[in-house]
Amino acid sequence: MTARILDGNALAQTLRADFKTRAEALAARGTRPGLAVILVGEDPASAVYVRNKVAACEKASFHSEKIVYPADVAQDVVLAKIAELNANPAIHGILVQLPLPAHFDSDRVLEAIAPAKDVDGFHAENVGALMQGQPRFIPCTPYGVTKFFEAAGIDLKGKEAVVIGRSNIVGKPMAMLLLQAGATVTICHSQTRDLAFHTKRADVLVAAVGRPRFVTADMVKPGAVVIDVGINRLQDGPDAGKLCGDVDFDGVREVAGAITPVPGGVGPMTITMLLANTLEAAERSVR
Ligand code: NDP
Repeated sequence: MTARILDGNALAQTLRADFKTRAEALAARGTRPGLAVILVGEDPASAVYVRNKVAACEKASFHSEKIVYPADVAQDVVLAKIAELNANPAIHGILVQLPLPAHFDSDRVLEAIAPAKDVDGFHAENVGALMQGQPRFIPCTPYGVTKFFEAAGIDLKGKEAVVIGRSNIVGKPMAMLLLQAGATVTICHSQTRDLAFHTKRADVLVAAVGRPRFVTADMVKPGAVVIDVGINRLQDGPDAGKLCGDVDFDGVREVAGAITPVPGGVGPMTITMLLANTLEAAERSVR
């Protein structure tokens, strides 16, 4: 069997076209969705992510503001900026690019964002709402994954779902969403005793590990839906410098029923869902 490829670029394009229409309808009523992105320091990967987020806003006709601070900025300066953005009616979404430098208390910074503008969905109030099954803002990456299931008509009720990874950004909210969709969910992590035992039972397998080509064909149940969240840059070998996922794509596609590629899978959906959350925040602000 060769797996069906779940194309994140195509799905992102379809969703973004809808967002543009919704944003225009909102603009006609005098509100332009606005996102503020705060970047601290000069981490090159973070700088690229922020640039891409701002560019996506511009393409979607959203208002965006990029606020950049040097790595040694005092935390109070950033907190004061967040307070100002919380009160700014032109800004519906606020995002602080992680990771922050070591002298920051990241939790304190994230908790300073008004929950109604927390488009990353990392504020404890929004995490709690997701846990209770009444999500307000769903973290963008797992939210994007749910769109693959919707678009491909994959019904999760009664399915065995296995998530590898338990981060607050991906693994935990992903597991919660699968649970809410009716799947039986197992969360695996670095302490899991026999990882392949779990993954081989999975009708739906989500890999969010951060290790290149970690999931191999022998770990996958024939016909499974495999979602590869990982983004890794290969350090050596013939593909050095290239991006790859947490899944050995060439091997696993021969076993799986459906698979997301890297690049071109979950990645484009993450920024797309940031736009979705910002738009939703703007729509709520005028309801
Ligand atoms: P984290 O490093 O926060 O979490 C990785 C998780 O993998 C941890 O829970 C860890 O377990 C688990 N893990 C590590 N080694 C093993 C192992 N040998 N066996 C089983 N589990 C293991 O990463 P993130 O969740 O932030 O990101 C995961 C990947 O997704 C990364 O490649 C990242 O770049 C990518 N990513 C992609 C995004 C996108 O837009 N496509 C967005 C966000 C992330 P433990 O908790 O025990 O340490």
